[in-house]
Amino acid sequence: FPEVKTVADIVRYNAKHYADRPATQFMGYSISWAEMDEKSSKLANAMRAAGVVARDRVLFYGGNSDDYFITIYACAKLNAAFIPMNWRLAAAEAAVILDDAEPALAIVQDSFASLWEKASQSNSRNIPVVAMQAGKQDSNPLWQWFADADSSDPRAYCQPDDTAWQIYTSGTTGVPKGVEMVHGGIMNMRLCEHLEPAYTWGPEDRYLFCVPSFHLLGLGLSMQAMYNGAAIVIATQFDPTEVLQLINEQKPTLAGVAPVMLQFLLDHPETDNTDFSCVREIMYAGSPISMGLLKRAMEKIPCKFMQFYGSTESGGAITLLRPDDHDLSNEKRLTSCGKPLPLIDIRIVDGDGNVLGANQPGEMLIKLPSIAKSYWRKAKAWDEVYSDGWYKSGDVGYFDEDGYFYIVDRAKDMIVTGGENVYSTEVENCLSLHPDIAASAVIGVPSEKWGEEVKALVIPRPGSTPSADEIINYCKENLANYKCPKSVEFVEDFPRTGAGKVSKKDLRAPYWEGQQRGIG
Ligand code: ATP
Repeated sequence: FPEVKTVADIVRYNAKHYADRPATQFMGYSISWAEMDEKSSKLANAMRAAGVVARDRVLFYGGNSDDYFITIYACAKLNAAFIPMNWRLAAAEAAVILDDAEPALAIVQDSFASLWEKASQSNSRNIPVVAMQAGKQDSNPLWQWFADADSSDPRAYCQPDDTAWQIYTSGTTGVPKGVEMVHGGIMNMRLCEHLEPAYTWGPEDRYLFCVPSFHLLGLGLSMQAMYNGAAIVIATQFDPTEVLQLINEQKPTLAGVAPVMLQFLLDHPETDNTDFSCVREIMYAGSPISMGLLKRAMEKIPCKFMQFYGSTESGGAITLLRPDDHDLSNEKRLTSCGKPLPLIDIRIVDGDGNVLGANQPGEMLIKLPSIAKSYWRKAKAWDEVYSDGWYKSGDVGYFDEDGYFYIVDRAKDMIVTGGENVYSTEVENCLSLHPDIAASAVIGVPSEKWGEEVKALVIPRPGSTPSADEIINYCKENLANYKCPKSVEFVEDFPRTGAGKVSKKDLRAPYWEGQQRGIG
């Protein structure tokens, strides 16, 4: 699509070619591409009248809704950076982001108003606020705010390296950093994905958007769907009951989820009453998936599965495990995150930067045309992860002789016990095949003898009561001794980030109180 060079061009192109087709479907209300174009222009003009200028930041403190997409396109038309705020954060954590981002305007959903009050209290600047009520259409204060604004497209001048989105990392590995994603990079990623996983997507498709609004996984895939002309079916949040109901009623053809969401869907009693036949492709990404969970999903839902590996800094997908690779008879392949997308390069290096060969784990360095510009106001931190065109992912992985990549751990989560490296995903994969285990998280805890030792935190399947010894013995049958948990603790759930990622930093914290861990 040669005329689609910025995020705003997506709505312009679709309004021209698919004017009456739906852009979004939310709470029983549909917005066409022509309406999306008009509303986003009006919002852009209202924001401009309120003082927002090019390169300002606009904060969206709301959940999943059609207003989220109207705001994305309005910001792009003004060349302002869109910040999807993590509404799961406590007020004090949100205040850190407000101080860092210095938004020129905040759009705040009514249900987050009191959180906003607390978060903005300590902020020295008086950030202008516009209220929003999701799903209220003409009585929505946001729609009323822009109702009388000029509906012509402001078409602010926008260059490829202007920031379109500033997305804060969830901070699983440190303080949240605002990743500046630029228009050129976002459109390059749309091209990479269009060349391969999304090449069959089109205006007839309906993409199910159920990942929290502040995470790139949902934003990136819904933008890809819109780039291909598809409509977005919006769930207010990831609630398995609502998502299964939307599948029955709205018949989405595409869906993007984090692995833990697949688990919630499969465990829900309504799953057996859900007709999944409309769903053509499910994309999953964002954290390791255990082989046990993937097999369950493939057996239950009759559609194509695709796995992406990516990060916010990379602008989205880096590798893809294609539908054909989801072959239940090839178990090893099911633990891979696939091969690089077109135009993307990966190198595996050791601690001295030497390039490693097949089957040798090392840090994954990535070269890709969608890389972010920097971390907002943290250029030094950016220099630590990006140099000479290579992005240091912080993930440890290897590729096999067929060129498939395997992520074995985040470098900071790797366990070093008695001088041996243990990758938590390998142990978690083994545990996922135990019939009494619903989910597990493996961490390193302090040990006088070994420096660190392997500990498994386990959520048993409902009605199962496995013992720690049984689980340790099961691992001993399948893994080298040093990789087996020395202790097992049973828990009801794990601390998770907004997108459902297990926060190993939080899991480790109580064991390491007052002690310094060598890694991480
Ligand atoms: P922070 O960078 O602060 O830890 P975060 O976890 O939210 O925050 P993201 O950019 O969302 O950061 O996550 C990227 C990371 O998620 C990758 O570096 C990798 O560790 C993990 N990840 C993403 N996709 C996969 C996958 N398919 N398999 C395994 N791990 C994955």
